[in-house]
Amino acid sequence: MQRSIIEMFSSIQGEGKYVGCRQVFVRFAGCNLACRYCDTENAPAKHPVCQVETHAGSRAFREEKNPLSLAQAAEEINGLLREVPHQAVSFTGGEPLLQADFIHALRPLVAAPFFLETNGTCTQQLAAIIGDIDIISMDIKLPSALPRPVWEAHRSFLRIARAKDLYLKMVLSAETREEEFLEGVRLIREEAPDALLILQPVTPFGGCEAIAPARVLALQAAAAQQLRDVRVIPQTHRMMQQL
Ligand code: SF4
Repeated sequence: MQRSIIEMFSSIQGEGKYVGCRQVFVRFAGCNLACRYCDTENAPAKHPVCQVETHAGSRAFREEKNPLSLAQAAEEINGLLREVPHQAVSFTGGEPLLQADFIHALRPLVAAPFFLETNGTCTQQLAAIIGDIDIISMDIKLPSALPRPVWEAHRSFLRIARAKDLYLKMVLSAETREEEFLEGVRLIREEAPDALLILQPVTPFGGCEAIAPARVLALQAAAAQQLRDVRVIPQTHRMMQQL
């Protein structure tokens, strides 16, 4: 698959354990899944150019032709990093592990922690670059959001990811079923019992409906019976009108 980077910019991490931290975001096109609530235009061919923020936080962008070279990508990331203190560089998508070789090659060129936002299914690619990654935000994808379940892929992924600063994220929607939720909780308890679990009420998109607030509380209570730390955090960057 041809590599396309959709955009690079400086913003506030809006989800999960590091919510509120300033990060440089590198968003790749392309994903191996097809979630019902996906809000990312993922086809690589749809992005002949990459939108690059001209100055950190300026929200002014110039276009660079895809695929960006390694040197060019490193220069753009480092330029943003130099302007404002950042906690990490976040590789997101799409599924960034489809570009594992590129992330690996960037590692010696970028002096900031590498933060991976992943759907938790590309185990071989993770194994190949686990030494390059500092923080992993892994989604637990529930079958109601997908054409088919990915439990076994999640299990093998967790066995490698748990060596790092790992937290898990489950998106909750009106379609979320209690039995699949509990299966996800059981998987986490078996493979990464100390990892933080974030429950993220879905931002309605593409026909996906919001979950009732009372159900969020009931699911959090059920998960907290089995896991050490279970928190509810929505997508806060949208509330702040950040990217
Ligand atoms: S894993 Fe993420 S990028 Fe891929 S389809 Fe699902 S929501 Fe979209």
